[in-house]
Amino acid sequence: MTQLLLASRNPGKCREMRVLLQPLGVEIIDVIELETEMRVDEIGKTYAENASLKARVFAEHFRIWTIGDDTGLEVDVLEGAPGLYSARLAGPGGSDVDRRKTLLSLLGSHPRPWTARFRCVVALAGQEGGIDLAEGECEGEIIPDERGDGGFGYDPIFLVKGMERTMAEISPEEKNLISHRARAVQALFPTLKMRLGV
Ligand code: IMP
Repeated sequence: MTQLLLASRNPGKCREMRVLLQPLGVEIIDVIELETEMRVDEIGKTYAENASLKARVFAEHFRIWTIGDDTGLEVDVLEGAPGLYSARLAGPGGSDVDRRKTLLSLLGSHPRPWTARFRCVVALAGQEGGIDLAEGECEGEIIPDERGDGGFGYDPIFLVKGMERTMAEISPEEKNLISHRARAVQALFPTLKMRLGV
């Protein structure tokens, strides 16, 4: 059976990706299952570079089709920050809670609404080094108090535009219909089918 590797150690991301990619009918594995120490630093200057880097390193090492995902939260009053630095906002050892607190402290002095969007780029890497890319966005607003216990990362403080609920208050099924990641994967789907021959 064709295998597809998820180049991520983020359990929330892998859970969503597995559901989104399930219609391909291939065997999906993630980096945690491979029990490897290999890590990829996000040294790229764009989401596409980081997503490609993550996918390529694992695809070439394990000789498996690999998907990398790089996501950023872009807040308008912060001129697009934290953006590419969303994972590092609270320093190297920071947790999701730390990052949400840091973001809210940066926003405190700015008037609301704090309009924002998640942007996600997914990259498919083959064993030969080729890369296919796709992007998805989801618009919303940062709110000062956490709401909901679903999702992960910045979800509890991200109010989805037009839904009046945060990304942590909607169900996993709803998130997988409207999220930045869902849109990016959907855009990559025809290419995935062609490359994997399914
Ligand atoms: P990365 O793509 O793993 O570099 O993620 C960047 C940052 O955004 C991390 O702090 C993630 O927890 C967060 N993040 C990524 N995807 C999502 C999402 O779907 N919802 C909320 N936060 C996310």
